[in-house]
Amino acid sequence: MIERVSGRIVRPGAVVPGHVEIDGPAILSVSAANNVPDDFIVPGFVDLHCHGGGGHTFTTGDVRQAGEAAAFHLRHGTTTMLASLVSSPYELMRDATAAYVPLVASGVVAGIHFEGPYLSGVRCGAQNPDFLRDPSPDELTALIKLGGGAIRMVTIAPELPGALDAIAWLAGNGVIAALGHTDATYEQTLAGVTAGATVGTHVFNGMRPAHHREPGPVIALLGARTVVCELIADGIHLHPGMLQFAAKAASPDRTALITDAMDAAGMPDGSYELGGQEVIVADRVARLARGGAIAGSTLTMDEALRRAVASGMSLPDACTMASTTPARALGLDDQVGALEAGLRADLVVLSPELEVRRVMRAGAWI
Ligand SMILES: [Zn+2]
Repeated sequence: MIERVSGRIVRPGAVVPGHVEIDGPAILSVSAANNVPDDFIVPGFVDLHCHGGGGHTFTTGDVRQAGEAAAFHLRHGTTTMLASLVSSPYELMRDATAAYVPLVASGVVAGIHFEGPYLSGVRCGAQNPDFLRDPSPDELTALIKLGGGAIRMVTIAPELPGALDAIAWLAGNGVIAALGHTDATYEQTLAGVTAGATVGTHVFNGMRPAHHREPGPVIALLGARTVVCELIADGIHLHPGMLQFAAKAASPDRTALITDAMDAAGMPDGSYELGGQEVIVADRVARLARGGAIAGSTLTMDEALRRAVASGMSLPDACTMASTTPARALGLDDQVGALEAGLRADLVVLSPELEVRRVMRAGAWI
């Protein structure tokens, strides 16, 4: 049975009134038409970096919680996501990998992201400093083998001993090497890019700030043609002006909106836990109880999209950053990330105020 969804269809660079026709799990056609509802139809969101939501976390390796976290974000329009862990002992990384392989196989999440533990102690933010260490070829080899393709991204600080070899090894084994939580210089960051890193983990946050005599990771990543830069558009991690600047400097084709959400997303203010540290959420800002560093966000992708548009981006550009670019970063742009015939029917119907009305994943309404 062919289903038709009508509205203002957002495609790269344009908003076109018309119909999206869906046949089974895939988009059959996209066509222009008049007299359609004024709702927007946008591609399902692709979140490269998310630790949890709705009171459930990806960071403990608990399959039930992981499924609930993915379901929470799916209700907010995220139809493709990575399950991000934080810096952890090897045993937790191993057990979480084994636990999440079936979730990846069944498509609940598109893969596992290890944010750390191979990160800079100087720029660890809300990562638990007790678990930080230098990149370990033995750990990585064992994890990637165990995951059998389930591990999609690892964030590394390129200035650490062995980091460049680890980055090259990951890239050569089909895993995205991301640079982040780093105190690298501009040159050290570019060395990481040359070694094969293709993603910047929440650029600006958890990295040496830009200075005109030491541009550092921020300028290196924004300027690297082969790198997609993650941006946390929650209005807390990044000033809206910085978000705008980054999207212009690197273009929407190289910037990806992420949530970096923790389990507190969608939950009331209170006390939460992240990677073995207490986090206090007050007025949607999550901070470590000890030291007050900003922890993960309480963002959802629909809110990130609204904030990107509110900061001055066009809706097509914001959708490129929320779907198309992250899908390409994952190597999944032949399956998801746009409203095009032949792609998986992942779409979000938004009100004219960009509030989620309905979410479809693989042709099925949520
Ligand atoms: Zn994170």
